[in-house]
Amino acid sequence: MHRSSLPPHFGQRRFLSWNDQQRARHGGRVQKVSVDAGFTCPNRDGSKGIGGCTFCNNDGFTPSYLRDQTDITRQIDTGLDFFTRRYPNTRHFVAYFQAYSNTYASVDQLRTVYQAALAHPKIDGLVIGTRPDCVPDAVLDYLAELSHSKIVELELGLESCDDATLARVNRGHNFAEAQDAIRRAAARGLQVAAHLMFDLPGESRDSMLAGADKLSALPLTSLKLHQLQVIKHTVLANQWRRDPASVPIMGATDYFERVVDFLERLSPTIAIQRIGSEVPPALKLAPDWNLRLHQLLPQVEALLLARDTWQGRLYQGQ
Ligand code: SF4
Repeated sequence: MHRSSLPPHFGQRRFLSWNDQQRARHGGRVQKVSVDAGFTCPNRDGSKGIGGCTFCNNDGFTPSYLRDQTDITRQIDTGLDFFTRRYPNTRHFVAYFQAYSNTYASVDQLRTVYQAALAHPKIDGLVIGTRPDCVPDAVLDYLAELSHSKIVELELGLESCDDATLARVNRGHNFAEAQDAIRRAAARGLQVAAHLMFDLPGESRDSMLAGADKLSALPLTSLKLHQLQVIKHTVLANQWRRDPASVPIMGATDYFERVVDFLERLSPTIAIQRIGSEVPPALKLAPDWNLRLHQLLPQVEALLLARDTWQGRLYQGQ
């Protein structure tokens, strides 16, 4: 297939890259600096559920320097120190509220926390990770107001588009709630990213690919795809140890194939932020792919090329 058949907005790639998009939009790299504001989660404190999602151990995704500091400005300074050395040409930094549910508080409380981050002279905006059932209209209105002068992205953890799978991993919300949250946020002009985990227990290839169709019908700006990882001190880890067959773990090759199958069906207007994640080795029980995070994307790109396919090739929408 000649490159001219690919959507021109993909540039030199076979998928819509969020990183490329951000560089074009903001004139350079936009780096997320993680911040832990001490929020909790309604799926842990009993208001929605207890015990949390079966795969959840937030230590797996929280940089170690955040555990020792509660002051937001100091957290940002520590993160900036690291990233400015690693990526000296970075033009923009945004505070990334990643751990737990970062809209799980009153608007007044959120205002205090977010403004503390935005008061930092090097911070141009916010990325706010949360659950789809944790974004009432009042919170979305406030975020929309902020987005008029700052970069603001709402990152919703969906994890699956299949209700049976969501129930099985004790997610505490269904897909209809995710659809509603995405629509209400997008209607206010917010950038909305979704976080999806491949092959949770009970998820089939068909339900994953049906998820690509469902997400394509929504006003999503971008998507983060993650492989399932069994992390220590989780319910999933106990299930996996007790009965490994109940938690099938994909091999790397199958995962890359599944990602490409999924991308083929996904709307070419949804940008891809990432196609995998990496938890600290000391916390991870499975899978054992012997691949670092930066090695995953080249594998997917090579497979897209080998199969002469691209994001949206089988997309049936408008
Ligand atoms: S994954 Fe998110 S929603 Fe689930 S228990 Fe952990 S913090 Fe809560």
